[in-house]
Amino acid sequence: MKKTFVTLDEVREIVKTYPTPFHLYDEKGIRENAKRVYDAFSWNPGFREYFAVKATPNPFLLNILHEQGCGCDCSSMTELMLSEACGITGEEIMFSSNDTPVEEYRKAADLGAIINLDDISHIEIVEKELGSLPETMSCRFNPGGFYKLSNGIMDNPGDSKYGMTEEQIFEAFQIMKKKGVKHFGIHAFLVSNTVGNDYYPTLASTLFKLAVRLKNTCGVHISFINLSGGVGIPYTPDGVGADIAKIGAGVHEAYDRILVRNGMDDVRIFTEMGRFMMGPYGCLVTKAINEKHIYKEYIGVDACAANLMRPAMYGAYHHITVLGKENAKCDHKYDVTGSLCENNDKFAIDRFLPKIDLGDYLVIHDTGAHGFSMGYNYNGRLWSAELLKKEDGSVELIRRAQEPKDYFSTFDCFPIYNKLV
Ligand SMILES: *Cc1c(COP(=O)(O)O)cnc(C)c1O
Repeated sequence: MKKTFVTLDEVREIVKTYPTPFHLYDEKGIRENAKRVYDAFSWNPGFREYFAVKATPNPFLLNILHEQGCGCDCSSMTELMLSEACGITGEEIMFSSNDTPVEEYRKAADLGAIINLDDISHIEIVEKELGSLPETMSCRFNPGGFYKLSNGIMDNPGDSKYGMTEEQIFEAFQIMKKKGVKHFGIHAFLVSNTVGNDYYPTLASTLFKLAVRLKNTCGVHISFINLSGGVGIPYTPDGVGADIAKIGAGVHEAYDRILVRNGMDDVRIFTEMGRFMMGPYGCLVTKAINEKHIYKEYIGVDACAANLMRPAMYGAYHHITVLGKENAKCDHKYDVTGSLCENNDKFAIDRFLPKIDLGDYLVIHDTGAHGFSMGYNYNGRLWSAELLKKEDGSVELIRRAQEPKDYFSTFDCFPIYNKLV
């Protein structure tokens, strides 16, 4: 059974101040998990997790992760600005972007961020914009073909838009070395939401071997390997979570076997996890406000895909707990829907749940990453608030709910704005 980190009594208390729907985050869970990540890689003194800001771009949460030792992985101007505002700058920022507008390279460089190039053609672009290349540069690698792990084919990098071919990465390192770059990094992100503990160790072997070849061929100093994101979480109740200690040990084994043996014992390991850092430590709390009996049984809630797009976009499973009915029999089959005029606006389809009564509070699990942040404003539906359950159990507002004035704010230079607000 999947457990919630908030109880019915707590929600009844919270809604006196902050009405549903809202995303709620669990500070204790976030901190404990971050500690486990740092423990798992403590064998590598230079290890750093760069939290993928896009997963949960909230300064309060970025600050918590920063206190735990994490930096920021940014890929847009506003993500860079957010990181800067949190005082997370310099080499604590990894700028892993693609299809990058040149002014974002300028901003990243001004902040002293590490620039991770997605394409060889951007060497020239960055050099032209900055006058010269920074001393430390990273390149994103795409091995092409299919990426296989012991449990089968995982994904198809040959079909993905990211990174450089192996040939290009050799050429890129040679060009950058000539242009004065001193420290090099290699990055790859090949598979999302992986299950099991194989992905990082396998990817690490691939990148470590590439690093040895690059060092030997180009005579460059490889200062870090960035394993990026992709470590999964169990969304379903029968899913098994990744064991980060085992994953860290697997990467350690490959490190000793490949890098240390080749005299490369000063390489730092970086990660850019989003989902694994935050996913389980956030949930969407919503209220049943309508029921409908036609060809199927529907429960309408006060949240919609504007607050959580993953089910509509990917058909993703998010577990649902009806608060106060945790131990009741799941003997009613429902579609749980939002209000968008889009038939894919369903948090669950044919889901067996306890009998739901109007006014019941539903917790939609594992929305802490790629949840709120994918929100949009279709149908003029507004973003919810974000709340933090602190370690002492108190609840703090960390983003207010959007109001109509926010939705209309881009009309503020037109006369109609005054009629709207
Ligand atoms: C999305 C993304 C991540 C985080 O991915 P998760 O699956 O959330 O771990 C890391 N790095 C880059 C470059 C990304 O685009």
